[in-house]
Amino acid sequence: MDNDLSGAPYHAIKIAPGIHYTMGGVKINTNTEVLNKDGKPIPGLFAAGEVTGGLHGQNRIGGNSVAEIIIFGRQAGIKSAEFVKAQ
Ligand SMILES: Cc1cc2nc3c(=O)[nH]c(=O)nc-3n(C[C@H](O)[C@H](O)[C@H](O)COP(=O)(O)OP(=O)(O)OC[C@H]3O[C@@H](n4cnc5c(N)ncnc54)[C@H](O)[C@@H]3O)c2cc1C
Repeated sequence: MDNDLSGAPYHAIKIAPGIHYTMGGVKINTNTEVLNKDGKPIPGLFAAGEVTGGLHGQNRIGGNSVAEIIIFGRQAGIKSAEFVKAQ
């Protein structure tokens, strides 16, 4: 040990497990359209953020939620508004 712990004072903090990120979710394309099992877009269904899966590959790189929620979140807003206007 770098520091001598043989005598007081001791300080402690409580640490508990927490969910930091949920891997997996619905699959989307670059237009944020949710894809069905055949890889075809489900009309009118858009998604972005942690509810989507696969964007990070097999694992998650810390900090990537910024891209996942801001870039794809804006894209989902644009594409869903376009969808509604076209109806
Ligand atoms: C402790 C902690 C630390 C983290 N640190 C980092 C980090 O350093 N870098 C990083 O990139 N990411 C980090 N993350 C992950 C990142 O914060 C999340 O991936 C990101 O915030 C997800 O954003 P989201 O908008 O997809 O989902 P959320 O932020 O979960 O938003 C979903 C929203 O939907 C609402 N909602 C749920 N159900 C319904 C419903 N039925 N009707 C209406 N609204 C509903 C919820 O209330 C919530 O407001 C961290 C996460 C945690 C918990």
